[in-house]
Amino acid sequence: MQTISIAEKIAQIRQQLTTDVRLVAITKQVSVEKMREAYTAGIRDFGENRIQEALSKQQHLQDLKDICWHFIGHLQKNKAKQVLNSMPWIHSVDDLKLLQHLNKLAGKLNKRPKICLQVKILPDPNKYGWSVDDLLAAWSDVETCEYLDIQGLMTILPLGLSESEMFDAFVETGKVKDKINENSKLQLKELSMGMSGDYLLAVKAGATMIRLGRTIFGERIIKN
Ligand SMILES: *Cc1c(COP(=O)(O)O)cnc(C)c1O
Repeated sequence: MQTISIAEKIAQIRQQLTTDVRLVAITKQVSVEKMREAYTAGIRDFGENRIQEALSKQQHLQDLKDICWHFIGHLQKNKAKQVLNSMPWIHSVDDLKLLQHLNKLAGKLNKRPKICLQVKILPDPNKYGWSVDDLLAAWSDVETCEYLDIQGLMTILPLGLSESEMFDAFVETGKVKDKINENSKLQLKELSMGMSGDYLLAVKAGATMIRLGRTIFGERIIKN
């Protein structure tokens, strides 16, 4: 149970962050009433991992015109059009085929979504994402995706790491970004990394966007 309000929690988190770190509130399974509380406390970036849930919330929150929506879940091709039409950010582009599909569709729909490429910085059979080697090997193809505004890398760490292993993995993600930027027309700026359990380490390691759900809104009922 949470004993302090959403607004107080957000204020506490903000005090831990420099102003250049973008706080994305992850609102899967969170009610629109709670989202309004977060909005009132200054949150403008909201992230969802299911498109149906996101669209329904967008309807209910239509009056809040300056919300910026972030898609953070595994994206199936048949949902790509809905996502492009409603979500300006997609953090979870996890392979080249999906990226190229989004590029083609974005061109047709006259959209230019902001994209993060999801990398598995450590091997993890339970997660989607590029391995570092696959990402580097695909880079020339990534660069040709002219209808996408590719902003950076996103990562989710495997469970069960020590704090120093988590920190090292976040630092490594930054190094992959730097390595890509050495030889690329496209310059990556963002590192979307850090969730409720590890965001302070992520920020210390250079995260520019953190994605927080439970620490703002309390535990979710269904785990995912
Ligand atoms: C659920 C989720 C988060 C937020 O996780 P918390 O542990 O609730 O902070 C962040 N990123 C992704 C991709 C998620 O699915």
